[in-house]
Amino acid sequence: MSLQFVNQYAEKFADLVTEQPIQPNGMSQLRLFNRTLWQQLGGSENAEHKLLKQLDGEQDWPGIRPLAQKYAGHQFGHFNPYLGDGRGLLLGEVKTPDGSYRDLHLKGSGPTPYGRGGDGRAVLRSSIREYLGSEALAALGIPTTRALLLTSTEGHVQREQLEPGAMLLRVAATHVRFGHFEHCYYRKLEAEQRQLWDYVIERQWPELKNASRDQQFRRVMESTAVMIALWQSYGFIHGVMNTDNMSLVGETFDYGPYAVLDQYQPEKIFNHTDQTGRYGFLQQPGIGLWNLKRLQMALSLSLPVDGFTAVLDDYEAVIQQAFFKQMKQRLGLTQVADEKAYSLVGGWLQLLQQHQLDYNMSFLQLERWYTHQQPVPFNELGKSWLQEYQQAVGGQPDIATMQSVNPLVSLRTHHLTRVIEASEQGDDSLLKDYLKALTDPFNRQYWQSQWAQPPAPEDQVGQLSC
Ligand code: AMP
Ligand code: MG
Ligand code: MG
Repeated sequence: MSLQFVNQYAEKFADLVTEQPIQPNGMSQLRLFNRTLWQQLGGSENAEHKLLKQLDGEQDWPGIRPLAQKYAGHQFGHFNPYLGDGRGLLLGEVKTPDGSYRDLHLKGSGPTPYGRGGDGRAVLRSSIREYLGSEALAALGIPTTRALLLTSTEGHVQREQLEPGAMLLRVAATHVRFGHFEHCYYRKLEAEQRQLWDYVIERQWPELKNASRDQQFRRVMESTAVMIALWQSYGFIHGVMNTDNMSLVGETFDYGPYAVLDQYQPEKIFNHTDQTGRYGFLQQPGIGLWNLKRLQMALSLSLPVDGFTAVLDDYEAVIQQAFFKQMKQRLGLTQVADEKAYSLVGGWLQLLQQHQLDYNMSFLQLERWYTHQQPVPFNELGKSWLQEYQQAVGGQPDIATMQSVNPLVSLRTHHLTRVIEASEQGDDSLLKDYLKALTDPFNRQYWQSQWAQPPAPEDQVGQLSC
């Protein structure tokens, strides 16, 4: 069976796209292929070599209809009307065997009219980061786009230095961003904007087809809030929460200079281009709301948005609740009354911050205190918190839940750096091994693995560029 394409975007939104073919950057070499995801999409076995030829233009790919999407967006707080797929193409929309829809998008496919003179290329380094980032978040249960296939290209790409080029085939529930609606607002495309909204809502949440606009907007708000709450609970920093990097359906989108906290330093800024710290870890919930307000504003062109204000008034409560629910699980406090659990979660974060403890490792150490009588390093430091905790859980926390939500393996910059260096030299063994661990992050057998180890002090994350 091959993929079933149902390309509607080009039909419905001719004014918002430029159709154009893939422009390969020389021959491609297959680096990673996500067989499980391919089969979920309805693809047949042993397809990757054919797929590679199709991406390189050596073989026809029936069913696809490649196009660049036009959008706009607020970048670091400032509106930019001139955005769009500058180095990627929506290849087509797939109807999967379970009846849901997925966009297939190729990043690094060559220049488009929306790239403002950019080379339209992607580098291997960033593409590996996106592949591992999205697959790791998916394994944690955080809504995200997915990675299907990674190639490196014969052609190299000039950045600060010449780097190996790459193409990344990515899968998303939709590639429609907040910025699409801002683009329609800017160009006063009222009918198109309303159609675009209906198209995404009906495709993603068919049960909301006839719901009120407020109810539809509420679902968008909740999806965004829950996604960010999960980021916060796992220490994930997106890095560039511009409105053009916000998926309408609340999937983590456009992986750039992301990071996951090693030591719990919530104030630390990782993106070196973000000098004011706009997209720092603790800013993310507030930025999510700010972005939703930009969306409301844009939608005022074609929808009755007055009721959206009351929806946004509930944002903070939704994000708090989702965050608290996840933290309660991470600390094994499922049997503890909310009020007590709430104070324990707050105390825990304070403890981690005060003593600069490794964020994701600390949950595991708490678990192992009970399962292996292994002393916890914060015993002395956090004596009173531990006492309160022990008292609250009455002997033992909910270990089974802790083991189902606390990863041994997480995205760590020092691992990413090492993996990428090896892959740039042509050796993908570390890459494949890390990917395997990241996609099985709760497996307790990884305790001794290199991938479970936090960085040595000299390997702590500095600042990142995308
Ligand atoms: P990003 O920072 O990846 O979210 O991209 C912001 C905007 O710049 C989007 O419109 C991208 O399509 C465009 N862009 C980024 N890199 C390139 C590139 N190498 N060539 C052309 N356009 C690009
Ligand atoms: Mg982007
Ligand atoms: Mg990007």
